[in-house]
Amino acid sequence: MPLKAAIVPVTPFQQNCTLLWDEESKKGVVVDPGGDLDRIEAAIAKTGLTAEKILLTHGHIDHAGAATALRDKLDGIPIEGPHRADKFLLDGLPEQGRSFGMLNVQRVTPDRWLEEGDTVTAAGAVFSILHCPGHSPGSVVFVNKAQGFALVGDVLFRGSIGRTDFPYGDHDALIGAIKTKLLPLGDDLVFICGHGPMSTIGEERRSNPFLA
Ligand SMILES: [Zn+2]
Ligand SMILES: [Zn+2]
Repeated sequence: MPLKAAIVPVTPFQQNCTLLWDEESKKGVVVDPGGDLDRIEAAIAKTGLTAEKILLTHGHIDHAGAATALRDKLDGIPIEGPHRADKFLLDGLPEQGRSFGMLNVQRVTPDRWLEEGDTVTAAGAVFSILHCPGHSPGSVVFVNKAQGFALVGDVLFRGSIGRTDFPYGDHDALIGAIKTKLLPLGDDLVFICGHGPMSTIGEERRSNPFLA
């Protein structure tokens, strides 16, 4: 039962909202619905999936800004993630929104906070949770080892890493998390990141200038 994925770029930040689903059962999840709710709903309709959960990698507006609105449209399905350390970001989403000229952004109260070692069932697959702070204190990565696939949010990008120039950013923590938690996942692991194209751990190990 291979996972299917579709990426919907949302918000002015071109964030990769990701739909994941099991082709057979059509059960799926929406990861990081940051905004542009109409586009996310259209993508859900096009794939024919039944969204059972919303997953959040971290609390930035381009990832979480439409999570509450989407939950309300989908009969209150649960929101899982990120780590509790991003609560201040989720509580502050209306202010984050106003600072970018985005009005009526609602704060998010997850149904479940995630911690290192937790598992999440999504799209008929089991994902293990890695807590990877640095870009934000509560950033988490979702890893499905059986299918060699991960969702890494803004922790790691193709050829780059998440920005850490926020008051709460921590460059050393971010590099440490990537090197001790993501690189050991193995070169063949494919990941979808929060912005830009997909990559593999091997590609980043070889060519990412921030990991040299
Ligand atoms: Zn971010
Ligand atoms: Zn982002």
